[in-house]
Order: sequence, then C-alpha cells, then structure tokens
Amino acid sequence: MDIKQAEEIKKCPFPIVRFNSNEDVHPLSIVVAKNGAFFKNKNQMYESLVKLEDKRFPFLLEAKESVITSLPKIDYNTYISILTFFKKVYQEHKSEANILLLLDKTLPFENQRYTLLVPKQDVSGTSVEYKIDNSSIPENLMLAGSVHSHPEFGAFQSGTDHSDEISFDGVHITIGGSLSKNPVFHTRFCFGNVVYKTERDMIETREEIPEVEIPKEWLDRVSSKSKIVYVHGSYPQGYHNYGSNYPNKYLETVSIYKLLLDPITVNKKDSKIIVPLHF
Ligand SMILES: [Zn+2]
Repeated sequence: MDIKQAEEIKKCPFPIVRFNSNEDVHPLSIVVAKNGAFFKNKNQMYESLVKLEDKRFPFLLEAKESVITSLPKIDYNTYISILTFFKKVYQEHKSEANILLLLDKTLPFENQRYTLLVPKQDVSGTSVEYKIDNSSIPENLMLAGSVHSHPEFGAFQSGTDHSDEISFDGVHITIGGSLSKNPVFHTRFCFGNVVYKTERDMIETREEIPEVEIPKEWLDRVSSKSKIVYVHGSYPQGYHNYGSNYPNKYLETVSIYKLLLDPITVNKKDSKIIVPLHF
C-alpha cells in the first residue's frame, strides 16, 4: 500500500476490518477478504456484504456476496386482508393499490406478524402515488416493505416499482392477477440500494381466498379524484389514525420463520452502492 492509499483509507468514514475476524463487529464497515473488499451493513433487519470494486487481498479469507434476512413471511390472514383491500380498491377505482408492511423494532422480527399501513394514495389505473411519511409511524414500528397489486397484469417489478423501492429497505411484493382465483407473486428484497430477487415464497397461501372484513379507513385513504403530490412530512392532518388500532383478529401470531437467501441472485442493474471510498 502506498502512502496515497493509506491516506485514503484513513479518510474512510467506516471501520475497515478483516472478514470473519474479531474486528468484524461494526454495523457499517468495509470488510476486506481474500477476494476483495465488501461493504457490510448489519442491522436488525439484515446483514449484507456487497462487493466493492475488484481490489484483492490475497492474504485474507474468501468471502461471498450475501444477504441474510430475518424478515418474516406474510401470514395467511394478513394476506387475505391485503387481497380484500386490493379488490375493493379495484371495485371503486379500477386501479392498483399499495399497502405498507411494518414491524415492531423492539422485538425480534422472526416471530412477528406484520402490521399493515395503508398510506394515503392517489390511484389511477396502473399507477399509485404515495409518499411515506416516516414521522407519522409509531415509535416502536418501522417500515419493512410494501405490497402492491397489478389487478389486470402479471406480477413483476416495473421501472416505477424499482425506483419506488430501491432505497426502501425491506421486502417488496407485487401481486399479479389480484382479482383472480390464483394470484401470482413477484418478490424482491431491497437492502442498502441493492435489489435481491428471489424465488422464495414470502406469502402463506391457501386454496381458499375469501374476502374478509377490513378497516373502513383503509379505503378512505385511497383517492382517484385529485392529483396528490406529497412532499416528505407534509401529510394532511388526521393521518395518524392507523396501525395500532386494528382489531386484534388481524394480529394473530405467525410461526417463527428465518429466511436465508441462499443462493441469491443479486441484480445490481440500476442499483448504486454509495460508499464514499476509493481504494
Ligand atoms: Zn407494479
């Protein structure tokens, strides 16, 4: 390493540690391994290693790009509530709809059931516009993903979906054919500005998909009349009315589920890893 490189490493805002060593304990760090340098992001939701540029460290152990997530599956009762909401939005507005998934960050994720949050949204046909207002989420809850419908199409991640999701850490699911008897899913995880596509099933389904009772307020938050443009933190007053007051029947426990994404397909197309470091 020459003096210039040494100086650059000194400027790195993250600790630089050896892979799988006792130095490797930081939530955000540059991890160096035999086969290169990785940006490590470890938090309650996931632990990811994303390879930086091709800079090799032959004296170290070899690491693989990986992500392990503790996000639980969406249980069946939650799923049919989501699907009922999507059907009712379609009946009223002939459009897609979006629903957000929240978890209690004070508890382990694996044995939790998602709390659903319907953001105020403006829908029209194949588009949903909404903006997440972090300040209105109860202190113990955090965003953990989203589900949206493609009522008349298959399940995929559109370009718009990609831009909505890329910087939104969590699981993102498109339910295609959401009006049909056999909805289909497209599931991806977005962690640290990287999209991880997976074939893994993140929804517990059964053959029967009955319509169920859903909170009336959910539908009140969907509008197709106005062009709503939200600026961060500018939700209308009265928006804080969600989540914790759902009837208990929506809050059954879900079995412990640990998801290991292995093998993973990392699709870095259009993703960016923002690490202010140049080796
Ligand atoms: Zn979509």
